[in-house]
Amino acid sequence: TKIIETHEINKTYKMGAEIIQALKSISITVEKGEYVAFMGPSGSGKSTLMNIIGCLDTPTAGTYILNNKDVSDMTENELADIRNREIGFVFQTFNLLPRASCLDNVALPLVYAGLSKSDREERAHQALVNVGLGDRTKHRPNELSGGQRQRVAIARALVNDPSIILADEPTGNLDSKTSYDIMELFHELHSKGNTIIMVTHEDDIAHYAHRIIRLRDGLVESDVHNPNPTRAA
Ligand code: ADP
Ligand code: ADP
Repeated sequence: TKIIETHEINKTYKMGAEIIQALKSISITVEKGEYVAFMGPSGSGKSTLMNIIGCLDTPTAGTYILNNKDVSDMTENELADIRNREIGFVFQTFNLLPRASCLDNVALPLVYAGLSKSDREERAHQALVNVGLGDRTKHRPNELSGGQRQRVAIARALVNDPSIILADEPTGNLDSKTSYDIMELFHELHSKGNTIIMVTHEDDIAHYAHRIIRLRDGLVESDVHNPNPTRAA
């Protein structure tokens, strides 16, 4: 089953009189359950493409089909709704609420889903157990290590059972040992059938993925199956 299908996506930005072509006719298909890494130098279009795939922005031209829905021309409100239901975001800087407990951070996406408080807390607790933090529910983010914070963020991304996990430099703020722990968790999530899309600058992180797509100057430079993904320890 196709989960992501982009057809000749273009994205242009106007900078005064100048027009910047950030994406030039990008056509990519991702099947349910794939584990994909996007790489490419700064300015190659990774953020622009991730913003479109994550329904934070729409293409200037072309179509984007996410889980059988054409989201290319949706309004802000429709996109927000799709984001909440279909995408689990993981960021380099974790983006957790500092004053809220881990449980409340993870439960937050479920507020938009309209679940009762007890259902939210039960699901959030289970999501924390699934990332190995069942004993940290009452802690605040600043009482945890960087790797634990990223696990909380991953639990939050998963709590809604999204179609895609979209991770932007998920190990960018972590030391190498902790990065490998997070890659181990991604490996586990992939084994359970989750679809993972990750952006990374780091070759050794990208090699955990089963497919590596390189962008350059707004074009797909290469798109290769990784026959021998790094096995998490
Ligand atoms: P990263 O490569 O770490 O994802 P960013 O997405 O923040 O970095 O920026 C990538 C490139 O896009 C940079 O060269 C930056 O100058 C440019 N850029 C990002 N946002 C804007 C903007 N609003 N206006 C102009 N250029 C931008
Ligand atoms: P990357 O994430 O690979 O660094 P980006 O998608 O951020 O690349 O940027 C692709 C191109 O689009 C760059 O030339 C960048 O300067 C430009 N760009 C990105 N965002 C904006 C923006 N908001 N306004 C103008 N130009 C932008």
